Amino acid sequence: MSEKTSYILHGPKDEYDIPKESLGKTIFNRLNNLNTEDVINIDAKTKTKVLRCGELLETSKKYCDLYKRMGVEKGDVISIVSENSVDYFVPVIAGFYMGIAVNPVNPAYSVGELQRCLLIAQPRLIFTSDSVLDTILRVKDEMKLKTPVLLINSASRTNPYVKCADDLLQENDIELKNFTPMEFDYTNQVALLLFSSGTTGLPKGVMLTHQNLRLAVGLCSHPKYGNVIPGDVNLIIPPFYHIYGSLIQLIGLITSTVSVIMDKFVPKLFFETIQEYKVSKLYAVPSLLLFLSQTPLIKDYNLSSITEIFVGGAPLSKELLMQIYKQQPSAVIKQLYGMTEVAGPCTIQNDKNKFNSVGCLGAGIMAKVINPETREPLGPNQVGEICFKGAALMKGYVPTQEFLDENGFYMSGDAGYYDNDGFFYIVDRYKELIKHKGFQVPPAELESIILTYPAVKDCGVVGIPNERAGEVPLAFVALKENTTCTEKEIVDFVAERISVQKRLYGGVRFVKEIPKNSNGKIMRRTLRELI
Ligand code: AMP
Repeated sequence: MSEKTSYILHGPKDEYDIPKESLGKTIFNRLNNLNTEDVINIDAKTKTKVLRCGELLETSKKYCDLYKRMGVEKGDVISIVSENSVDYFVPVIAGFYMGIAVNPVNPAYSVGELQRCLLIAQPRLIFTSDSVLDTILRVKDEMKLKTPVLLINSASRTNPYVKCADDLLQENDIELKNFTPMEFDYTNQVALLLFSSGTTGLPKGVMLTHQNLRLAVGLCSHPKYGNVIPGDVNLIIPPFYHIYGSLIQLIGLITSTVSVIMDKFVPKLFFETIQEYKVSKLYAVPSLLLFLSQTPLIKDYNLSSITEIFVGGAPLSKELLMQIYKQQPSAVIKQLYGMTEVAGPCTIQNDKNKFNSVGCLGAGIMAKVINPETREPLGPNQVGEICFKGAALMKGYVPTQEFLDENGFYMSGDAGYYDNDGFFYIVDRYKELIKHKGFQVPPAELESIILTYPAVKDCGVVGIPNERAGEVPLAFVALKENTTCTEKEIVDFVAERISVQKRLYGGVRFVKEIPKNSNGKIMRRTLRELI
């Protein structure tokens, strides 16, 4: 089907000069041009754990040797199940040098969630940290997995079950001086395998190539958009297992700027870190901005070093945006809009006069807004489903599934429009995904758990608005005849089987039947109207 091309928007053609090479090559060259003592990462909690350029360069090369010794090769996958730390990205970068796909996984996942993820990723090697080790060993045992597990960021070196990666790295035997990253097709080689449920169903593996990530970093750091410049200090609060966290770390590495890493959000430490390290780039989700607008703590700290606040991952209200503008007059607030499937941002807000917009398209991205019923592209100022195409778009899902329309566009499931100047505005979501503090909560995942509760006949989960979290999941449940059960029983049943971000914070409503259409699909809009 041919399309009305005037209703297809393009990002800038060659606005930023992205080297046509792998992330591994660029990072390797960058590190070689820095001084060995230059700081790459600082651990916000301990302050003393610091990753310097020389150490990163040497250790990442040693990881390559370790991978070779363990038989991990180009095209293989390695998983990392750990909280953020300064040690996290060292094996990741080694993966980038060798064309190995890195699969960061949420360390808070339950045994069941981890099993699903590892079945999808099929890693050849799993890195984990002290705090997740017991769960990983349980998962390994239940799945009868032979995959080796290595500890990173470990305080204890005496674990009887697994080895520390650091110890194995000492046994290296390659000539480190002659090391160079491998040559491969950067447009096709997978760099990261992240999880996203997309527009429907259970989480899937999203294959992001080196090129996808290069484009995202280019957009985020370009002077006209993200404007990350030498001397900047980035604060990484988003977790590395989400595209947001990994992308910030890559921005730091590629722009040679320092990144301070937090493994979890602790209010006092957050303010102390900004003040002490003079953080200039703050990467937030709307719930963090809400916290900033309400906490009395803010008065005790000097936050004037912040020049840019990026905010994305979920809708941001106009009122909150205005409040933050008043509170942080020296900072520019830039909304980002995007998704895992395009390696992060599709648009960045870069015009103060359009402060309520999520901005214009980045390079390597084309977009259209379609009428959800007829699928015809719409002109400016008409709300429809936003769809994307181009080099920034993922290679595909694991397991494989169709993800493009007949014209090669990815249908985002988001409702929005663009204005006459090509600025985008997000107004709603057609897809079933729920976003809790910026984290994905796929309703299908919760439904598959609730349906295993003996008294439950059927169920449907929807998101309900929540001031602090953005949205929280609520379950509509139909019980089998002559059975009873309480809301608490179901809430607890789910909580035991799923990570903390996905619990039924919206509660349970009991109904006679779950409304479904003629194809058996849950009519979520009808459910939402019942609230
Ligand atoms: P994720 O893949 O976890 O990053 O989730 C992507 C989804 O988050 C998008 O498809 C949107 O539904 C939502 N999202 C991301 N950024 C924004 C934004 N600036 N405004 C509204 N929704 C957003």
